[in-house]
Amino acid sequence: MKQDSPESMAAENRSAVVPVLVPMPAERPYSYSVPPGMTAVPGSIVRVPLGPRQVAGVVWDTPVDAVDPRKLRPIEEVFDCPPIDEKTRRFVDWISSYTLSPPGMVARMLLRVPAAFDPEPPLEGIVWAGSEPDRMTDARRRVLELAADGLAWTRSGIAHAAGVSLTVVDGLKAQGLFETVEIPPRPVVAAPDPGFAAPELTLDQTSAARTLREKVESGGFSVTLLDGVTGSGKTEVYFEAIAAALEKGAQVLVLVPEIALTQQFLERFHDRFGARPAEWHSDLAPKTRERVWRQVAEGRVRVVAGARSALFLPFKELGLIVIDEEHDPAYKQEDRVFYNARDMAVLRGHLGDFPVVLASATPSIESRVNAQQGRYGRVVLPGRFAEAALPDLKAIDMRRSPPARGGFLSPVLLGEMKRTLERGEQSLLFLNRRGYAPLTLCRVCGHRFQCPDCSSWLVEHRFRGQIVCHHCGHAEKRPEACPECGALDHLVACGPGVERIAEEVVGHFPDARTIVLSSDMLGGVKRLRLELEAISKGEADIVIGTQLVAKGHNFPNMTLVGVVDADLGLANGDPRAAERTFQLLSQVTGRAGRTGKKSAGLLQTYQPEHPVMRAIVSGDAETFYEREIAERERAALPPFGRLAGIVVSAATRAEAESHARALRRAAPHSKEIAVLGPAEAPLALVAGRHRFRLLIHGERRADMQGFVRDLLIAGPRARGSVRVQVDIDPQSFL
Ligand code: ADP
Ligand code: ZN
Repeated sequence: MKQDSPESMAAENRSAVVPVLVPMPAERPYSYSVPPGMTAVPGSIVRVPLGPRQVAGVVWDTPVDAVDPRKLRPIEEVFDCPPIDEKTRRFVDWISSYTLSPPGMVARMLLRVPAAFDPEPPLEGIVWAGSEPDRMTDARRRVLELAADGLAWTRSGIAHAAGVSLTVVDGLKAQGLFETVEIPPRPVVAAPDPGFAAPELTLDQTSAARTLREKVESGGFSVTLLDGVTGSGKTEVYFEAIAAALEKGAQVLVLVPEIALTQQFLERFHDRFGARPAEWHSDLAPKTRERVWRQVAEGRVRVVAGARSALFLPFKELGLIVIDEEHDPAYKQEDRVFYNARDMAVLRGHLGDFPVVLASATPSIESRVNAQQGRYGRVVLPGRFAEAALPDLKAIDMRRSPPARGGFLSPVLLGEMKRTLERGEQSLLFLNRRGYAPLTLCRVCGHRFQCPDCSSWLVEHRFRGQIVCHHCGHAEKRPEACPECGALDHLVACGPGVERIAEEVVGHFPDARTIVLSSDMLGGVKRLRLELEAISKGEADIVIGTQLVAKGHNFPNMTLVGVVDADLGLANGDPRAAERTFQLLSQVTGRAGRTGKKSAGLLQTYQPEHPVMRAIVSGDAETFYEREIAERERAALPPFGRLAGIVVSAATRAEAESHARALRRAAPHSKEIAVLGPAEAPLALVAGRHRFRLLIHGERRADMQGFVRDLLIAGPRARGSVRVQVDIDPQSFL
């Protein structure tokens, strides 16, 4: 019998139980035993039994709980995959405690691509062994000429290159002319070359690029706000920071708000670095997804351009994050784990001790204040590149130049569209509303079509012949008769959506080529990409679109942007309404005149004296920021104070309300933090669930998380249909 000292046995026992974070809403890792002969280190991705199932989890490094050894179950398998590194593990812990989400739910975002935990099988390659075939044919000679380089080919690769059929290759192989070798799996993207095509930068760009380069070269954590009007060359400038990171041997992550639509970005990257970045977003084919995940983990992919979920890729040596359009609301995830990818990227940089660059023409108030107060650096690009002038912006006072009866476009805007058309240039009409009309009602009895499951009107989509709920997706056929009074043909559409604007445009300009772009278009992202490309090639005269068209595209021939309803975003009670409207309108009007032609932006508004309209028309962003920052400071709103939202929802209104009230009563006493509400949410009903909101407002340094945690512990458990969702730093107040 083998003799073990008591010490070594104890050590073995200690190390034979490890904590594993599993992808579910557990507050702590679970304990598992490590079978003899298996090596599981912190970060190892493992397969473990969980109830009747098997799930993937990550070995964690917290102390294990004491578990009855008889209940301990073993790890089934350690995947052949690089372990999740220490920095990423701390990132998960930190997000979990910041957002008050269970760590398992955060880890779940790391484990989204289970097929990538096993290595990609190598390809089978063939190498010429040096001998000659029994009989030479033309086809055989062509194959052998290629094989003479002594490198490994795949069978189909060499057959294709030689222009012969596979049987020719297999015939040679059967005669023993080839040895088989393993070829490592093909890289998803070629390696970017930092010196491939460095541009000649302007003076301003050079100095901005130098600042960013220095941050990357000297290393260490820093955040720099790259602030410059649309078309000033921010992309060119942060490409230099990327080049510096590549030269250092670091991996780079570029976050973009709408990756599925940024074809042009990928091409520009290719022009600069001679290779595309790997893309990461929800639209990737499953196989590509696996390969990108795996090759990021192995360090074979050097640059990823992706949506917010790319933050949870298992980078091997991440050394720079760039967040393009850092102000964009798309960075906020409001599902399961509520987090803002911009803020979490800054945290990731802090944990990884590397620089972060935030780029925007209209930075968020938060980032502007951080720069003002010296927490972030700031570099500014003051003007557009080359001769491109910013568009000439004007407000159209709709009270003075109203549209014709039944229409939505002012004669001033229509006149400008006509002249643009005559010059052979493109116009863009922007309206952030999908469908035909936001409300349908019966002229006889006044019945309004409302979603049966939500407190929202049904939006008519005339192309599809449906009325649709934009909150839960409920759709029904547009009825002929009013369901209330039975009157036939008396339904009226109230207000415009993009489809209705298109109808009005076609009425005025029947010969113009008109395109409508919105996210619910048939054909999805593929079709959108094609349409966007067609537009930049000049294959449309008038484009009517939602905010999809506002982001990042370069339409060289677009010289007029008309905003159909500039007041639209100002109406709600959101504390960021003015900021958001300013950002969106600046971005949309910034689509015009990007290549030097004289261009114009027209804003249809009923309140031309509103500070947002004034700021845009005068081009005086500074005054707007000053005012908005002063306003936030006065009201102690972020970043001068802190907010957290709690949404309680339930199957009945009474349950939701009483639970919300009970939580309110459970709130700890604090001098720095106040609880507002509960109040019925503006969206009182969503998908059949009634909603109440609490808003927690704290001073800048208040411990919001501690407060909310205590409140939830002191309050009643959520039972039955009741659900409680916490949103730290909320962006949405609906
Ligand atoms: P931003 O990101 O600030 O909107 P871009 O980087 O997209 O600006 O630049 C706007 C346009 O000007 C692009 O077509 C870009 O290729 C061009 N551009 C900017 N700077 C330069 C430069 N130094 N050399 C050549 N082209 C440039
Ligand atoms: Zn609905």
